[in-house]
Amino acid sequence: MTIPQLTLNNGITMPQIGFGVYQTPPQETTAAVETALSTGYRHIDTAAAYLNERGVGDAIRNSGIPRSEIFIETKVWITDYGYDTTLHAFDKAAGKLGVDQIDLLILHQALPGEFGRTIDAYRALEQLLADGKVRAIGVSNFMREHLTRLRSETSIVPAVNQIEVHPYFRQTDVLTSDEEYGIVSQAWSPIGGITFYRDGSHGSTLEDPVINRIAENYGKTPAQVMLRWHLQQGRQVIPKSVTPSRIAENFDVFDFDLTTTELGEIDALDTGVRGGPEPEVVTLEKFGLDIPEA
Ligand code: NDP
Repeated sequence: MTIPQLTLNNGITMPQIGFGVYQTPPQETTAAVETALSTGYRHIDTAAAYLNERGVGDAIRNSGIPRSEIFIETKVWITDYGYDTTLHAFDKAAGKLGVDQIDLLILHQALPGEFGRTIDAYRALEQLLADGKVRAIGVSNFMREHLTRLRSETSIVPAVNQIEVHPYFRQTDVLTSDEEYGIVSQAWSPIGGITFYRDGSHGSTLEDPVINRIAENYGKTPAQVMLRWHLQQGRQVIPKSVTPSRIAENFDVFDFDLTTTELGEIDALDTGVRGGPEPEVVTLEKFGLDIPEA
């Protein structure tokens, strides 16, 4: 099967579906990523803060698939923000992944209370891009105001903004600002994982009656319908699983199309309630985490 590709704003291409490894324990990461690669995924999304980059690198080497055919994305944690520390964060990540070049390196969060540090970190990403150490750069969890400020103080438009998007939290305003800047929106918790693995104010997207009704129409699962909703609206998705049958299920989403009415019905499920931390509460004091050397 040929995976649809998205062209980023610097001309490089990225598979529209990738594989996430947040909360995948380090000792299970290699097996999960090996299963994903043998299923057909060619994009892996990890992060320094997940402490499992080494397992991702091992799986990529074990797979025997040429490095050039796999798109590797990782994220710099806030503790490593600052020009020199972010340059060094690349060395730590590349060392753990066992690669010379990372396809997409992004800032994991804005630090709204210390935005100057966020800017310094982004300038380091710009340098890494100029040096050919990364093929594209981007951000995560940036709201419209963070993008506006970043654009006014740095040169390169992020290729990607990785944000929480699922049927119960669509973030339409951020999707619109990404589009205005030519940034690809990458949906984290694309099947609403955060609605069922973390206590929140609403139930699980997997049990939603509208999504289940649509799934039954197509003989598909709720997870597959949610992934289809993102893909048809132009977003990139990175579903996570450690379960081989689900890893396969989440990749089997290219043989049906939702109607415009069904896409609208899923859009209408938005509650406006975020599952992840409010951007303003992200501080080094609360969320600081030492990222080990390679
Ligand atoms: P997902 O929406 O991908 O859901 C993952 C959860 O759903 C896991 O509990 C998994 O269980 C379960 N699951 C997976 N497939 C199915 C299925 N077909 N049917 C039923 N249950 C299923 O949520 P995530 O929050 O993990 O987001 C995906 C990725 O996004 C992360 O892994 C990470 O790469 C990224 N992310 C980024 C964040 C950021 O701040 N930038 C924040 C959060 C995530 P099991 O594994 O047991 O099968």
